[in-house]
Amino acid sequence: MRASIRPVDPQNPDPHLIAHAAAIIRAGGLVAFPTETVYGLGADGLNPAAVARIFEAKERPPTDPLILHIAEPETLLQLVREAPPVALELAHRFWPGPLTLVLPKQPGVPDIVTAGLATVAVRMPAHPVALALIRAARTPIAAPSANRFGRTSPTTARHVQDDLGDRIDLILDAGPTPIGVESTVLDLTRPVPTILRPGGLPREALEGLLGPVAVQTHLAEGPMPSPGLLPKHYAPRAPMILVIGPPPRMRATLRELVARYTAQGHRIGLLIAEEDRAETADLPAETLVLGPEGDLETVARRLYEGLRELDGRDLSLIIARDFGDQGLGLAVRDRLTRAAGGSIIQV
Ligand code: AMP
Ligand code: MG
Repeated sequence: MRASIRPVDPQNPDPHLIAHAAAIIRAGGLVAFPTETVYGLGADGLNPAAVARIFEAKERPPTDPLILHIAEPETLLQLVREAPPVALELAHRFWPGPLTLVLPKQPGVPDIVTAGLATVAVRMPAHPVALALIRAARTPIAAPSANRFGRTSPTTARHVQDDLGDRIDLILDAGPTPIGVESTVLDLTRPVPTILRPGGLPREALEGLLGPVAVQTHLAEGPMPSPGLLPKHYAPRAPMILVIGPPPRMRATLRELVARYTAQGHRIGLLIAEEDRAETADLPAETLVLGPEGDLETVARRLYEGLRELDGRDLSLIIARDFGDQGLGLAVRDRLTRAAGGSIIQV
């Protein structure tokens, strides 16, 4: 099988093409489609056999649950056993948008979707193509990011084709995705709402409505764990080191690391900010500038493309700098930390 890539207008998707894609979903097939975060690999979320095909295509372990995508906030009530008032407030305020809510599941949600958990993750994406597809398919669409498990998430249809093109039925190509990192996953089943994965909706936006929000990821665990302890994820093929600290110190450390590893014969890629450009211009390294430190929207949008781009340049080591923990910076740090497999230097 070779997926056909069909261009689609991101604002006004062609209803015939959407009907064709929805028919594939209803027949148990796989359609990759754009959301505002990254491209998703969609299947009928209420059809266990169709959902099983997602796990096969991605080579995703069955222990890793999927997000159900809906097109109307009210559909949430058909998928969860109880929705506390705060869930409805969050949905009202932030949907459609890059926020996934984790709540106790209805028995009708297939176990394969939730990896056997008693909870289900649900979101309403803010992308006209995604919404049109879900509506036309008349079912919640289970959709993880449309990449092979452990690889960098796709922000263009081309990325999807490179990773999964021979394993799926159709790719809807609406151009690059506007946010570029996955949704924020928020667990509402705990006494304090808890971010399980920082993402496109910043923690500060949630705290404006909820008060204090916990962050339960490796990022919150004080001192960084030893290199190698973290599951490698969102990862380029070349090994990566992440440098965290005040910008002048990060720049000094980038210079030291390039000198040291070049001496060892490495071909080095640098993933940096606009502000680092002058101080790294003379280094023997391939540089990729994500954007200005203060423009985290641009940095997040270009992150995965940047990682893939460096990965295509035959490097033996990538050194990245951190972008702080404010706003989208936290999601960027999370993805870089995992891409680095925990190889972090704090300066
Ligand atoms: P992906 O769609 O590939 O970006 O991954 C979906 C994310 O949602 C993963 O980080 C999952 O662990 C998380 N997730 C999905 N369902 C649940 C759930 N029921 N409880 C906690 N996390 C979940
Ligand atoms: Mg993913």
